[in-house]
Amino acid sequence: MIIKQLTVIGVGLIGGSFAMALRRAGVVGRIVGVDTDTDNLAKALSLGIVDEIATDALSGVSGADVVFVSVPVCAIAAVVRNISASLPPGCIVTDGGSVKTAVVNQCDALMQAGCRFVGGHPIAGTEHSGAGAAFPELFAGKRCVLTPGLSADPDAIETVSRLWTAAGAAVCSMDPGHHDRIFAEISHLPHAVAYALVHAVGTADVEGENVLSYSAGGFRDFTRIASSDPAMWRDISLMNREAMLASIDGFSASLAELRRRIDCSDQAGLTEFFTTAKQFRDGIV
Ligand code: NAP
Repeated sequence: MIIKQLTVIGVGLIGGSFAMALRRAGVVGRIVGVDTDTDNLAKALSLGIVDEIATDALSGVSGADVVFVSVPVCAIAAVVRNISASLPPGCIVTDGGSVKTAVVNQCDALMQAGCRFVGGHPIAGTEHSGAGAAFPELFAGKRCVLTPGLSADPDAIETVSRLWTAAGAAVCSMDPGHHDRIFAEISHLPHAVAYALVHAVGTADVEGENVLSYSAGGFRDFTRIASSDPAMWRDISLMNREAMLASIDGFSASLAELRRRIDCSDQAGLTEFFTTAKQFRDGIV
């Protein structure tokens, strides 16, 4: 047992999967769920993801050793502001948000009575949402990046790290700004490109044809992540604005270079471009 009570605020895909993984690992005594979506919360209870539910966050955090905030990134700081005066002394607050700089700065400043904030981001997910989409194996073999705030002491970092390890993840730590620049490239850019691609093809006019009706495996594989929650990606785009703009600029330059080589019928240049990209891709699978 690592902690007696975990309170999960936002029992969706990530919060629900974290609760399920920790229960399966036997490292948490009691799990309390809080969610603004009462149907989702009732489902989390009926599926056994949480042991009990609280109608409001203030009562939900009573007795918590660790509070896991797993709501949309734009809402994390407001949730922590709301509960901060009601947290048990010494409580550890952590989150699963996909953007870290603003979240860590805001939440860290809200810690009082010896409470500690340890930012976190599990590098795992699906295009589905809600407690019904949660499953305990979600984090197995995946990374979880911790971005501790100034309030986080070694004991708090160690506890959060042990929880993610118990959930099956490989834990590493980094500065929040470094995190946001890395994930703008490797996660936020691919989602932006997938959404932009489907948007472009979906609105393409080729002699009045419904172009999307001709989609096959390649288009569907490439665009799976464009079925993710639009509100989540709106929030991530706004919260990681600067780093995302830089990654989109880099991608635009790469696409412009590819366009130039096609325009010039540059056979050797195209072979070199596709070969380099294939080597990067083959190296990660
Ligand atoms: P989700 O499945 O939609 O679950 C979030 C839950 O939180 C929903 O039930 C939502 O209710 C509820 N909620 C929203 N605002 C709330 C508030 N103020 N207080 C309490 N509950 C609230 O979302 P998710 O995919 O698990 O994402 C949660 C977090 O994990 C996000 O910060 C996201 O960036 C991060 N993350 C997601 C992924 C992924 O692949 N999905 C991967 C890594 C990290 P409503 O539906 O009514 O708003």
